[in-house]
Amino acid sequence: MLRIFKKYNLKKQNAFKLDVIAEYFVSVTQKKDLKKLAKRIDLKTNKHFILGSGFNTLFTGNFNGLIIHPNIGGIVKLKENKSHVWFKVGAGVDWTNFVKFAVSKNLSGIENLNLIPGSVGAAPVQNIAAYGQNFEDVFVSLTSYDIIENKFVKFNKSKCKFAYRDSFFKRESNGRYVIIDVTIKLSKIANIDTSYHSRYGGIVDELNKFTKPPYNVSVIAKAVGRIRRRKFPNWNKFGTAGSFFLNPFVSKEKLSEIQKIAPGVQFYPIEKTTYPPTDDHYLKHSSYVKIAAGWLLEEIGWRGKRIGNVSTSPNQALVVISHGKTSPNEILSFTKRMQDDFEKAYGIKLEPEVNII
Ligand SMILES: Cc1cc2nc3c(=O)[nH]c(=O)nc-3n(C[C@H](O)[C@H](O)[C@H](O)COP(=O)(O)OP(=O)(O)OC[C@H]3O[C@@H](n4cnc5c(N)ncnc54)[C@H](O)[C@@H]3O)c2cc1C
Repeated sequence: MLRIFKKYNLKKQNAFKLDVIAEYFVSVTQKKDLKKLAKRIDLKTNKHFILGSGFNTLFTGNFNGLIIHPNIGGIVKLKENKSHVWFKVGAGVDWTNFVKFAVSKNLSGIENLNLIPGSVGAAPVQNIAAYGQNFEDVFVSLTSYDIIENKFVKFNKSKCKFAYRDSFFKRESNGRYVIIDVTIKLSKIANIDTSYHSRYGGIVDELNKFTKPPYNVSVIAKAVGRIRRRKFPNWNKFGTAGSFFLNPFVSKEKLSEIQKIAPGVQFYPIEKTTYPPTDDHYLKHSSYVKIAAGWLLEEIGWRGKRIGNVSTSPNQALVVISHGKTSPNEILSFTKRMQDDFEKAYGIKLEPEVNII
């Protein structure tokens, strides 16, 4: 039976573990639940929000509407050829469990995305990426439920409009499509990517500590896991959304200016990054780069800084952490100070990666 909870505490389902209450909450475990839900509540007119595991969501207060939690499970093999295997994965499957599953079968494509907290359903919304791999590269299609038209709708890759930590769902759809399952294509041939490195060490440095080439997907996932456990606070214990802000894109002239203040700042060519297929003039030019916001925040004293119950990580200045009982306002005023200081120092406005609701 489809149960709609009233006055539901979201503490366990929001990145900063805030005590926020949803007026209504429903967990959807089967496709047909959505049709049933639409019969009971007019989803077109009632305020709602689709919530996965909440690891990239910051509620600014109680939510006066319905939270729809897609919790559909299952990993089904659809087909296989000489080089690839296709899986249909339920939106409610834990992303890291799916990575473990792939690695256990020696399938490649998501090993560098190990230990990104959250659900499979959120992966296309956020277009998750880490250590040189991007979700969009393994994505084939998804099934969603359109709450306006009351029908199931398929999305292929081009309809998703993937971009850097961005997609059609994040930017345009405004909660219209509830993602139910995602089809992912993994490679039988390992495409090992060890190119990622940062101020905090790279994949090769980590691999050297416990293994030797040739590498397989399992050791890559292990190395990534070890780096991430060091870099991030334990997200089951502390409130955090990982990187709070996006890494900004800047022109090469702007980069030269910044390098005068922060020599050695890490930057990445945007040809290696996926960026929005928009009319945005600057993104069309390869003379732009993506710069490491965490590095620049560290340069201006934001690494490990604490104000009241909120701090940045002692290991990465872009990672905001809540300690104990924290209010949404405390987090918002802390991150506003980060933004203001950054803009003052570099003339660039940081944009949140986190969904602020
Ligand atoms: C410690 C830590 C490290 C992190 N590191 C990374 C990283 O390396 N790379 C990276 O990309 N991200 C990273 N993140 C961010 C986060 O893990 C991802 O954004 C993840 O995809 C969030 O999943 P979720 O289920 O918790 O999403 P939620 O926060 O629940 O939702 C995120 C967005 O997706 C929408 N959504 C969720 N599920 C559905 C659905 N089924 N249908 C339609 N819309 C939906 C929500 O409405 C919301 O807009 C990190 C977070 C933490 C806490």
